[in-house]
Amino acid sequence: MRNDAVLMNHERIHLRQQQELLVVPFYVLYALEWGVRSVLYLNTYKGYKNISFEREAYENEKNLDYYKNRRPFRFIKYLWR
Ligand SMILES: [Zn+2]
Repeated sequence: MRNDAVLMNHERIHLRQQQELLVVPFYVLYALEWGVRSVLYLNTYKGYKNISFEREAYENEKNLDYYKNRRPFRFIKYLWR
């Protein structure tokens, strides 16, 4: 279930990712990864869900303290699995 707290937490994780990448590069990488994955999956929604930033946010959004304890640049771990 995704309640408001979970959705807020998801966005909070993205804010951390943006801070680490100084905002603009975050969006550039986000768009690039979405494009590449959409081609690989032949599906833009699947492409979106598998962007490393989204994998990290979706997998940890229910842990409301995650953004406080996460290690910087943790999204890199979600690039390959
Ligand atoms: Zn997201």
